[in-house]
Amino acid sequence: MIDLHTHSLFSDGDLLPAELVRRAEVTGYRAVAITDHADSSNLDWIIPRLIQVSQDLNAHGKVRVIPGIELTHLPPTLIVPLTSRARALGAELVLVHGETIVEPVPPGTNHQAIEAGVDILAHPGLISEEDVIFAREKGVFLEVTSRQGHSLSNGHVARLAQKTGASMVLNTDTHLPGDLISREEALKVALGAGLKLEDFDRMLENSWRIISRLR
Ligand SMILES: [Zn+2]
Ligand SMILES: [Zn+2]
Repeated sequence: MIDLHTHSLFSDGDLLPAELVRRAEVTGYRAVAITDHADSSNLDWIIPRLIQVSQDLNAHGKVRVIPGIELTHLPPTLIVPLTSRARALGAELVLVHGETIVEPVPPGTNHQAIEAGVDILAHPGLISEEDVIFAREKGVFLEVTSRQGHSLSNGHVARLAQKTGASMVLNTDTHLPGDLISREEALKVALGAGLKLEDFDRMLENSWRIISRLR
């Protein structure tokens, strides 16, 4: 498995990065991004720490660890400048917490995330077809998620992405140890969203492509 959206105790996850990565390893992961929730109060606190632990774990372990960030519940006009700040601080992956239907994420978040050119728009909820096309044009990957609640709109996201040719990735948004999933469980999430085995394989390939373009 490869998973580009997880949380450690640097935001609202339960696990220290090292334990998250060890548990991912025994679940069969080969790569994991740690993408804790951030706004302007904690970007500069989280990112250097995730970079440090990623360097250490990558030097001594088998799982490729990527230091990322998930910009969360921001006023949409802050998304472009904070994406730049996150990248300047060294975040290798920038996600935005998209307009999931189970939280009051500000409308316009999906659009500004795509405008900012983030790597992945997480759980984009009932994203409009115009924004899905915009994501395709900007090379922003749309997320299909195994996370309870956020996953309610997977079918909508998958249908529009397939209709328009936008690219998707499959992530877990892990907060607790039990949120990590095997490849077989991930495949069921994809099939449940109306996708086929080849679509699932393409989503995993997309995640590897995202990693391969990192420094
Ligand atoms: Zn969270
Ligand atoms: Zn998340």
